Amino acid sequence: MQAFLVMIIAVVVAGLPLALAGGGSAASPEFFPPHGPVAQGEVAELLVQGVPAGAAVEGSWQGEAVGFFPASQGARAALIGIDLRLPPGPYPLEVRVRGRGENPITWRETIQVVAKDYGVERLQLPERMVTLSPKTLKRVREEEARFAALWGKRSPKCYWSGQFLRPLAGDLLSPFGRARFINDEPRSPHTGVDLRAALGEPVLASNGGRVALVGEFFFHGRAVVIDHGLGLYTMYFHLSEVKVKAGTQVKRGEVIGLAGATGRASGPHLHWGVRLAGARVDPFALVKVTGGEM
Ligand SMILES: [Zn+2]
Repeated sequence: MQAFLVMIIAVVVAGLPLALAGGGSAASPEFFPPHGPVAQGEVAELLVQGVPAGAAVEGSWQGEAVGFFPASQGARAALIGIDLRLPPGPYPLEVRVRGRGENPITWRETIQVVAKDYGVERLQLPERMVTLSPKTLKRVREEEARFAALWGKRSPKCYWSGQFLRPLAGDLLSPFGRARFINDEPRSPHTGVDLRAALGEPVLASNGGRVALVGEFFFHGRAVVIDHGLGLYTMYFHLSEVKVKAGTQVKRGEVIGLAGATGRASGPHLHWGVRLAGARVDPFALVKVTGGEM
């Protein structure tokens, strides 16, 4: 640190801009992992400061590459998602800075994942509403495969910036993460949030991105999935109308569709979900970590 101060003083005395102060030998990069444990379904931010110009920052978490993006004051940041059902325990995280012609700097940290109780929802429904015909079951499986294929795709570009928006203002009808039982049989947990919406109410893109998928699905109804880049996706289900085409770019706050009750929905609402490198995380956790308002 002292050597660094001496160098700054020398540069100031010499009247030279700092950028000319020699080949990246200034401050060493510093890595800031999440403070403390991270709960299932949450999103954590990683920050690397003092990255030399032209250096690459990379990392790995849960066997997946971590995508870093530029943050304020030349820092690089990344978001990691803790899947809703990732068993609690210690998990390794590795982050590396590779400069030109220099030895990489590697940090090996442990992220402590802790359990979070998201509650349980129990429904009793007539059997005819629960049992799917072989034809419908086939359709549902094909649709699930289309979504699963998306989560495996990673756009190398970061299309989003700043805060993630709530796509509409309506109250929270059903929170993220509830374990669900229908007629006492365990079903998939709720992996998004349900927001109250009027029929035809505009649904906004939560942030910038590329429309990765538009379609009509058995459970999700008319749906839009936005690829924000670096493995981050948001999804919008049960729309009455879709206003965007697959493959086009959208801006934060742009109307992508109108709320509705298509697919399996008991009334008009928006199901809003997030995937981050395949992990099922709470959309509100993404809003919070990016500094947005609930
Ligand atoms: Zn839902």
